[in-house]
Amino acid sequence: MQIGVLALQGAFAEHVAMLRRLGVTPKEVRLPCDMEGLDGLIMPGGESTVMGKLATAFKLIDPIRNFAYARKPIWGTCAGLIFMARDVGHVQPLLDLLYVKVERNAFGRQVDSFIADLPIPIVNKALGLVDTPFRAMFIRAPIVKSVGQGVDILAQLPDGKIVAVQQEHLLGTSFHPELTQDGRMHQYFLNLVENS
Ligand code: GLN
Repeated sequence: MQIGVLALQGAFAEHVAMLRRLGVTPKEVRLPCDMEGLDGLIMPGGESTVMGKLATAFKLIDPIRNFAYARKPIWGTCAGLIFMARDVGHVQPLLDLLYVKVERNAFGRQVDSFIADLPIPIVNKALGLVDTPFRAMFIRAPIVKSVGQGVDILAQLPDGKIVAVQQEHLLGTSFHPELTQDGRMHQYFLNLVENS
């Protein structure tokens, strides 16, 4: 299985390290030719406006969209989720793949970053694990304000804020599983790729 990690900017090295721990050697994606032969793609956290501008400059928008249209799995974490969305409330380069409305920086500034023990019952059930929460790191994180048809909610904070969604082969999380030692979200994505 060949997994790509979009490596234009942001926390891509941490995703690469986590995948290696899970026994997968990923490929860093910077150019359209790097997409060749991939079975799944991860887009990291960082800064979604910068990521979008760089993806536009490197002509990656159409290859990533076509990858999704070919039903190959994509997972966006934080800025990656924003980049995948259809609507973020203002104009910036978006892939328009995930039928969600996202609010950027929904918890405030960098100083308002936090860690939460997030219930992930659907993920745990799919992995056949005991249902324990995921220690999720939120760094200037977005939330999903509303979901369109066909989008399932995978995780919510206690106040109901939506922080993980899945639309068939497309996955989006507000938090940063690559910054923890917990490989469950990555394993969930790898299973999605395996079963797609
Ligand atoms: N606040 C960033 C944005 O709007 C996302 C932050 C992150 O990826 N940790 O793009």
